[in-house]
Amino acid sequence: MFEQYLHKLDEQHLLRGLRTIASATGPTVTLDNRLVILLSSNNYLGLATHPDVVEAAVASTRLFGTGSGSSRLVCGSLPPHEELETVLAQFKGTEASLTFAAGYLANIGVIPTLLGKGGLILADRLCHASLIDGCRLSGATLRVYHHRDMNHLERLLARRSSATPTLIVTDGIFSMDGDIAPLADIATLAERYEAAVFVDDAHGTGILGRTGRGSLEHCAVESRIPYHMGTLSKALGSVGAYVAGSRAFIAYLVNTCRAFIYTTAPPPGSAAAATAALRVIRQDPERRARLWRNRDRLAQGLMQLGYQLTASESPILPIHVGHPDRALNLAQALLSHGVYAPAIRPPTVPPATSRIRLTITADHTADHIDVALTALKRAGQTLRVI
Ligand SMILES: *Cc1c(COP(=O)(O)O)cnc(C)c1O
Repeated sequence: MFEQYLHKLDEQHLLRGLRTIASATGPTVTLDNRLVILLSSNNYLGLATHPDVVEAAVASTRLFGTGSGSSRLVCGSLPPHEELETVLAQFKGTEASLTFAAGYLANIGVIPTLLGKGGLILADRLCHASLIDGCRLSGATLRVYHHRDMNHLERLLARRSSATPTLIVTDGIFSMDGDIAPLADIATLAERYEAAVFVDDAHGTGILGRTGRGSLEHCAVESRIPYHMGTLSKALGSVGAYVAGSRAFIAYLVNTCRAFIYTTAPPPGSAAAATAALRVIRQDPERRARLWRNRDRLAQGLMQLGYQLTASESPILPIHVGHPDRALNLAQALLSHGVYAPAIRPPTVPPATSRIRLTITADHTADHIDVALTALKRAGQTLRVI
């Protein structure tokens, strides 16, 4: 049965497998004994290998051990967790924050605490899978609105009975497309129709906004959207996630959120790494500026080559090719020219929108980008994508 299933996937060009990267997640990595330029990591600021961040993880691990020993509510709350939550709340300008072992856990945990059976969730069609799973777990009715389509969202809001508890769910930066949710318009609709809003800022945290606080800062809605989540696993170079909000909301989560309560506290070293990463973000804004310069160099180069870039406004630059087979071939051609950016296929993205999802980091040099563009030119021409 397993073999049959896998065989069928393979026939549809949808089979996936693991590839081991034999080095740290830098601008270049070792893959199959070759040094290649990596254009698919979410380590946007290069903080996963920053000496201060690594040192913080090591020092904290020496002091507090590799594991936390239990869930946060039993005896797993250690000083690195407390410090990270304090620093996160300061960074976000909220009263409090709460950290989770993964973004996936935060999303499947928090949404069911916000509403349940009898409630209505309106989610953007391109929301991350973890948000959709959280919506399903909640037991509320889930309706999907067209991607970033505020008219459609408003029609769905207007149609429901006003007594129905309603939650609007969206990514801040959409993970596979790199475009940004119209959070100001969403906040306006939420206010008009008395709905709550839950934003997943996994990709915006650390990189968007004047001070890197994320997509809420970028869209100037921090005072209008009282809580949101983000991850520690992308620009912050660690692992885990946070929810930022009021003291009461955080205490409510500590008492109700099953994905917080019934799981072991994240390792102290990863919490300390995230705290150190936040310090670097505050003290070294040039790193964020470099990321955006690199992003613009890559985006400009792609457009000059004739690639059709979509609405991306971020370091995520998808190249749409349609059929999964084509995406696999383009990824293979890129790899043969020394660039690693694997194909992203359904069900991660909607049918017929298979793509190469390029991401750039602050640690790539102009030279890396230019070499990658040459590879993108050759591979794109061979496969007639450009
Ligand atoms: C990566 C991601 C998550 C999951 O976060 P993890 O920490 O990797 O579990 C959630 N939402 C979005 C939008 C993401 O891109």
